[in-house]
Amino acid sequence: MTPSPTSRGSDEAEVAIVGTGPNGLAAGALLARSGLRVHLHEAAEEPGGGLRSARLFDSSVRHDICSAVHPMTASPFFRRFGPVRDGVRMHTPEISYAHPLEDGEAALAYRDLSETSARLGEDGPGWHRLMRPLLDHTGRVTEAMLSDLRRPPSPRAALLLAERMLRHGTPLPTGFRGAKAPALFAGVAAHAGSAPPHPAAAGVGLLLGHLAHAGGWPIPEGGSDRIAAAALDDLLAHGARVHTGQPIDDLRRLRSARAVLLDVAPRGLLAMAGELLPDGYRGQLERYRYGTAAAKADFLVSEPIPWRNPEISRAGTAHLGGTADRIRAVERATARGERVPDPFTLVSEPGNLDPTRAAPGKYPVWAYCHVPNGDTRDPVETTRRRIEHYAPGFSETVLESSGTSAARLEEYDANYPGGDISTGAVDLLQTLARPAWRLVPHSTPLRGVYLCSAATPPGPGVHGMCGYWAARAALRREFGVRELPPLD
Ligand SMILES: Cc1cc2nc3c(=O)[nH]c(=O)nc-3n(C[C@H](O)[C@H](O)[C@H](O)COP(=O)(O)OP(=O)(O)OC[C@H]3O[C@@H](n4cnc5c(N)ncnc54)[C@H](O)[C@@H]3O)c2cc1C
Repeated sequence: MTPSPTSRGSDEAEVAIVGTGPNGLAAGALLARSGLRVHLHEAAEEPGGGLRSARLFDSSVRHDICSAVHPMTASPFFRRFGPVRDGVRMHTPEISYAHPLEDGEAALAYRDLSETSARLGEDGPGWHRLMRPLLDHTGRVTEAMLSDLRRPPSPRAALLLAERMLRHGTPLPTGFRGAKAPALFAGVAAHAGSAPPHPAAAGVGLLLGHLAHAGGWPIPEGGSDRIAAAALDDLLAHGARVHTGQPIDDLRRLRSARAVLLDVAPRGLLAMAGELLPDGYRGQLERYRYGTAAAKADFLVSEPIPWRNPEISRAGTAHLGGTADRIRAVERATARGERVPDPFTLVSEPGNLDPTRAAPGKYPVWAYCHVPNGDTRDPVETTRRRIEHYAPGFSETVLESSGTSAARLEEYDANYPGGDISTGAVDLLQTLARPAWRLVPHSTPLRGVYLCSAATPPGPGVHGMCGYWAARAALRREFGVRELPPLD
């Protein structure tokens, strides 16, 4: 059923959305395509949230400010959303992610699972057993991991995931004997930013790890902002309005809308409506925990990174962390608030995959490292040293660099409190009650007001599913609409 708009012909919004990250945009797409008059309000001058790119140093080279690599566009939302699925060209590397070790050794996650296993020596069969069943049921596994956590997952997917989360997210023996496979898994699980071993981090590792062998880890041609641009074009084509440079600091400003969807951190909701919230819910938001942060480093270099192991250049992402034991030690120390000299670091060279991202003698390098929440240090020097360790000569190729400390990341986007790019610690309890215990997790006690940021299920990453689930709940509860519009 199509909702009956309350203000057709007038300029008033039926739905107000605060924040235009991937989740605000996904929510907007569903609501605008349902025939509702949607207005989006964005604090920054540019829309897109974590999906923004810029020419940082040179007019011919674009850098991704936040997200760069997009395995989670395999989400149910992006798989159906035609403007991005068909309208944004993706470049998918043959090696999804690489993990350099000492002396030029490297563990490599090829898209081809058999190739990956064949290169992992004695642990090859174990890696195959870990990933093959997930790959065989990738649709159900992805749906389970990106659900609103209130729908029972397919029993098969639940069983496959639970058994593996227990084995790889607790101190139980994993069955791996060599160094490469444990390092490969520790690196992909470290995307969660939770002190390992942790079942929630293992869950993230299993989702991203098996996607590496399914659709791969693609990067959008031109930069991550192309995803936001495609979604924005679609919103405008469906009558939505986008107001940029417009921070919302008081929820009452939006009271004329029948539904308000907030792509903001719990801290943001407290700031704009703290006194309107009942004590119990407000207390839960105040106790919501923010976790390990990221500090971002961008480089313009004169040639691709001279990795000691040249195969790493064929990967879309490199995880710099050393052995699994070292990653565990460093990640735990970082989560405790300690500053370590060799933080877990992620690196991507989009110019190696997408020719539009490089110019002769000029290549972008995107990197971030894990640091304690609120850290104020510029990460450029540490990141340069981390890359140099695995790629001697890197420093001499650096033409320009710039760093964004964890503290400054929050100034850039309020959804990253203290630089926590997951908008809240990813642990088991907080994954289930993200950001509070509620039957309809995206709803709030305020009538018509929903949260739709990465602080809601299913959590961080560019998948749009927090916005998708919030919009579904709002459509059903505020407009009586159960049937979703086509997204092609
Ligand atoms: C350095 C970095 C690297 C990352 N790399 C990856 C990656 O490679 N792949 C991946 O999948 N994910 C990555 N992520 C994570 C990903 O970007 C986020 O999980 C995702 O963007 C979350 O989407 P969101 O819509 O919830 O919030 P955001 O994308 O953060 O968007 C929120 C928007 O709301 C706006 N806003 C907040 N408060 C207000 C207010 N009061 N009024 C108006 N507007 C407001 C903000 O300005 C922002 O534009 C990365 C993040 C960072 C920072």
